[in-house]
Amino acid sequence: MFLKRIEIMGFKSFADRTHIDFTDGITALLGPNGCGKSNIVDAMKWVLGEQSTKNMRAEKMEDVIFNGTDERKALNVAEVTLIISNEENLLDLDLSEISIKRRLYRNGDSEYFVNNTLVKLKELRELFYDTGIGKSAYSIMEQGKIDQVLSNKPEERRYLFEEAAGITRFKMKGSEAERKLNKTNENMVQVENILSEVK
Ligand code: ATP
Repeated sequence: MFLKRIEIMGFKSFADRTHIDFTDGITALLGPNGCGKSNIVDAMKWVLGEQSTKNMRAEKMEDVIFNGTDERKALNVAEVTLIISNEENLLDLDLSEISIKRRLYRNGDSEYFVNNTLVKLKELRELFYDTGIGKSAYSIMEQGKIDQVLSNKPEERRYLFEEAAGITRFKMKGSEAERKLNKTNENMVQVENILSEVK
């Protein structure tokens, strides 16, 4: 699995639709200070479901939408698409190429798409469990991330090992089942209370 292409439109400094093809041999993106290199990494994290404005270097999420310049007015929507090769079927979809898209409107509405089908953020995250891709995984190692990982709490460090070992998916499903079970137990208690009142 590898990243084939990123398309950015209206996100941070990328007002116009811009694409980068990560063809064989590309190992670095170079450019002068402030030209938008980090914004490209931000775009990758964002489309994978990043929710932290701090990690987006923004005060509020709408700040990631192009906010205009002296010559150009602000836009009302930001959109980022990743095209990922899935030839080894590491992602659980029977397709050799998968596109992931996130769109955010200035009124706060947000949408995620997998191959142009609207999905929930939860579904998008599930697609990437155990692949090392995702906002808390290890495919994006930014400056300081290694230090952060080493100084993190043991449980947080463990998350990376679990992701690499391929058990995140099962742990998440386990937690979800536990949540549902607790909810069902609460409902049962409520039903029993009502029944005893009726009797
Ligand atoms: P350096 O090499 O100094 O780290 P860089 O190439 O990584 O720089 P970025 O941090 O990616 O640069 O880009 C910074 C630029 O993005 C700034 O000029 C900033 O004004 C612009 N920018 C950030 N958010 C927005 C936005 N919402 N709308 C328009 N421009 C934005």
